Amino acid sequence: MSKAVNIFWFRRDLRLDDNIALYKALNDELPVLPIFIFDSEILHKLPKDDARVTFIHNTLQNIRQILRKKYNSSLAIYFGKPETVYRKLIDDYAIKTVYTNHDYEPYATERDHRIKQLLEQHHIHFKSYKDQVVFEKNEIVKNDGNPYVVYTPYMRKWKEAFKTLDFELFPSENHLNKLIKDTLLPNLSLSDIGFEQSDQTIATYKVNSSLIQNYETTRNFPSKDATSRLGPHLRFGTVSVRKMVKKAISETNEVFWQELIWREFFMQILWHFPHTSKDSFKPKYDRILWRTNENDFKAWCEGKTGYPLVDAGMRQLNATGFMHNRVRMLVASFLCKHLLIDWRWGEAYFAEKLHDYEMASNVGNWQWASGSGVDAAPYFRIFNPTTQIQKFDKDLVYIKKWVPDFQELTYPQPIVDHKAARERCLNVYKSALNKV
Ligand code: FAD
Repeated sequence: MSKAVNIFWFRRDLRLDDNIALYKALNDELPVLPIFIFDSEILHKLPKDDARVTFIHNTLQNIRQILRKKYNSSLAIYFGKPETVYRKLIDDYAIKTVYTNHDYEPYATERDHRIKQLLEQHHIHFKSYKDQVVFEKNEIVKNDGNPYVVYTPYMRKWKEAFKTLDFELFPSENHLNKLIKDTLLPNLSLSDIGFEQSDQTIATYKVNSSLIQNYETTRNFPSKDATSRLGPHLRFGTVSVRKMVKKAISETNEVFWQELIWREFFMQILWHFPHTSKDSFKPKYDRILWRTNENDFKAWCEGKTGYPLVDAGMRQLNATGFMHNRVRMLVASFLCKHLLIDWRWGEAYFAEKLHDYEMASNVGNWQWASGSGVDAAPYFRIFNPTTQIQKFDKDLVYIKKWVPDFQELTYPQPIVDHKAARERCLNVYKSALNKV
């Protein structure tokens, strides 16, 4: 007879502590089989040395080791289509319930719907919980029930709701002895899933008191390593967002806290308006006649536009998988406005390169930069890529680090003239937006 178990399915919550669905599973009566599925549908789109895949792989191996050493247990790792993996699990075990945490992206929502149906055909429950955010879906909406599309009132309502929230942690780490006692669960190496070790590593996060307390004075300067680097850790759930919010509050730093709220703002936007993953939130902006200039796009991607701060950002991204937020805003504006290239091209390039890539934040911020999204900067506000240096890198420390050749003869001439590009942008935007 097959063994009776509950399953805990790890996805974007790769940690053992303060994990809601894991906590719920461990507090149910049956032993818990923890699993992770490398989804072949997602993996086949990624470069073979993708740093995010290496990171996930290493994190899972680390979890396996902890579970084996301390709890005489392990974590089962599979590769394939989730439906196929579940069919096999249904054959091998008598499963009562599958526990997991919500994943809000359009592909994940659809996948979960299919898995739930499959499980229900076999009389297995599918229970999913809110874990990735403090407030989700339509928990923070206007008084008339409509979603917020402007950040500041959303943020105020978020904080108001937080005051009355019964904010608790879920100490899953204290119940791990309820995991299945089996140290021989299936494992996979990187090569088993068709990948190789990446040369890039995902930075560890720093949320110490001094960083949080100095955050607003230092966060805007790309040469200072003064932001938390939480992005990929929130993305893959190697850190609990609840613990981070608690930390921001205990250090009484409103600005840092508000950055975490930006993340939730864009997540609820994507949930309410899933079409914005492809289309502009403001439909008029999809009338813009973008230039499809492959050469200019290539120069931007490679950091060879002749504008040193833009090039420094792109070279930092290509070399490390990270770019400072200030510079992200500038390079995005430069692509959409100076080069008049569709924000979707830039969004896709960031999606491939950023270690902290997150659909909701990436799409939301790209549309913000192009003027086409929620709460976006007005289209006629165009960053000047030269005066931005004065404001944010006046001693050229960041530029010299990433573009050491910028004062040499070999450094490219600007691919567009700032004034002419600005005029062109205003004309093209105006004529698209004024069309009836
Ligand atoms: P910190 O400054 O330490 O902030 C802490 C956390 O707050 C971040 O990790 C992030 O979760 C959240 N946060 C901060 N700023 C924003 C913001 N503007 N929007 C949403 N969340 C925010 N962030 C992503 O997480 N994934 C993306 O794919 C992404 N793409 C972007 C694309 C563009 C064009 C721009 C302008 C910004 C993008 N951002 C994205 C937002 C921001 O640049 C990064 O979150 C931040 O730079 C990550 O560094 P950090 O973790 O050190 O941030």
